[in-house]
Amino acid sequence: MARSSSRSNDWGFPRWRGYGGEHGATKVRLCDRHGCDKPGDRPAPKSPNSPERWYFCEEHAAEYNRNWDYFAGLSAEEAAQREADERRTSSGFAEQAHYGWAGPGDGRWSRDEMRAFETLELEVDADFETIKAAWRRLAKANHPDVKPNDAAAAVRFQAVQAAFEILRSAEERRPR
Ligand SMILES: [Zn+2]
Repeated sequence: MARSSSRSNDWGFPRWRGYGGEHGATKVRLCDRHGCDKPGDRPAPKSPNSPERWYFCEEHAAEYNRNWDYFAGLSAEEAAQREADERRTSSGFAEQAHYGWAGPGDGRWSRDEMRAFETLELEVDADFETIKAAWRRLAKANHPDVKPNDAAAAVRFQAVQAAFEILRSAEERRPR
């Protein structure tokens, strides 16, 4: 127990030790394999797409590689290309989500206001008479008196009310 708790103290950090005697001039990174005191000079990726590396001695690198086939059959260049592709794909999603809000009215409408148009099933920039008509229609269709005991309708009713409040106050703030 004492042994494993002392091991966990340096978990995740490189283990360094003077190698070749107490007064040895060189510091050597040790093999990351538990309990191994050989120099760790064989880097191996910790997980797919991770730039982090374990450093193993020759024997333990071979052992690790036997149980590791993510990059099996890929050259170093192909493995790097795979990493780059996956990174590009995920940042592409982020950009798309951002530009999803650009469009009509961009810059004049806040995100909440643009969502409010969407809730009222309107194009952004619909005029206030159109907004009022959509609000009346949707509020009526989802009203608790019309749809008693309909939880989904109750949620839509609330959302329609909130959306109208947002657009009404935007209309009041609008310079004439
Ligand atoms: Zn080792």
